[in-house]
Amino acid sequence: MQGTTQQFIDLESQYGAHNYHPLPIVIAKGDGVWVWDPDGNKYMDCLASYSALNQGYNHPVIMQAALDQIKTGVTLTSRAFYNTKLGEFLEIVCKLTGHDRALPMNTGAEAVETALKMARRWGHQVKGIHEQEAEIITFEGNFHGRTTTVISFSSDEDYKVGFGPFTPGFKIIKYGDISEFKAAVNEKTAAVLIEPIQAEGGILIPPAGYLKEMRDICTEKNILLMADEIQTGLGRTGKMFAVEHEGIQPDVYMLAKAISGGFMPVSVVTANEDVMSVFTPGSHGSTYGGNPLGAAVAVAALGVLKDEKLVERAEEMGKYFVEQLEAINSPHVEEVRARGMLIGLVIKSSSGVARPFCEKLMEKGILAKETHESVIRFAPPLVISKEEIDWAIERIAEVLTTEAPV
Ligand SMILES: *Cc1c(COP(=O)(O)O)cnc(C)c1O
Repeated sequence: MQGTTQQFIDLESQYGAHNYHPLPIVIAKGDGVWVWDPDGNKYMDCLASYSALNQGYNHPVIMQAALDQIKTGVTLTSRAFYNTKLGEFLEIVCKLTGHDRALPMNTGAEAVETALKMARRWGHQVKGIHEQEAEIITFEGNFHGRTTTVISFSSDEDYKVGFGPFTPGFKIIKYGDISEFKAAVNEKTAAVLIEPIQAEGGILIPPAGYLKEMRDICTEKNILLMADEIQTGLGRTGKMFAVEHEGIQPDVYMLAKAISGGFMPVSVVTANEDVMSVFTPGSHGSTYGGNPLGAAVAVAALGVLKDEKLVERAEEMGKYFVEQLEAINSPHVEEVRARGMLIGLVIKSSSGVARPFCEKLMEKGILAKETHESVIRFAPPLVISKEEIDWAIERIAEVLTTEAPV
């Protein structure tokens, strides 16, 4: 369909449910870190679809893998049958995570749901917690998706108002405070579900040693440590997984987003045999989960991370990006919080909220989105070059050094 930016926006707004408040830009074409609107204006994407596009738009290797699979005529088999791509994908994921088995789903929220079901069944059948009493510990400020169960333990009222009744069995405690965690653990605790960095929560990095100590407590008390690395995993923070910054191995990983480089929804949950074996035929599944097109795309997307050394690149380029950001002499910046290429720039409360700054950035050709009112997130595709960072910094500096855009 041909049209102008305004026509596409009007059409989407007229017929779509208003459960989002997008910036007024239509993305019609993409390549690497760059996108174009229908009117031909060019922008740098510093959101990268919440880190799903770590490999960048239009990646030729992922594109070719997708086209090759489509041309076989087999894009969906359901799990009633085997296919030729799923095994290869799961093997790569297991070798990457160090876990024995992987269970494929589609979206991130489904991976989280899968992990929660697995943890509960493990709690009942293996650990011996009474079926109605298993507890899973979660954290204030968490983001794990939007299903009814997942929002049951959100601490963000926007996600919850009017959606009750909620699923019981979750204990919500303060993030980053190990003594709260120690106090929350009891004999009914089956698992702890944690983001190693709270990205949606505002790029919150817990104190050094926190996850390590949590790992030790979980091992000692026979509690599953479940890491939601849907946004932080697969290179974003300068390690393959963000938990590696503390040198730990969780019992369960949830991965999605960049696992398919933005081509289509693919997610996966990994664990060792003693935990994963609680799933028996018929106990869980998804029609599209493990589909050969998604698997082929994911094999290619994970291959790109490795072949192009995007993990190392996130570390190196992220450091450069942060240095340049910190060198901007701005009256509006409270602090820069970052790990690798997951960067949060916090706007001072005296300068208002982050949204108007994002709107100004957009006018200058940079797409970035506010998270939690006061934080601008910079998380471009990891293929970004030094020259491209310089291009961005020049424009970011212009926005941050003029008077507050409120
Ligand atoms: C995006 C995200 C999810 C949810 O993924 P969807 O694919 O949107 O369902 C869960 N956890 C984290 C940490 C995320 O960033």
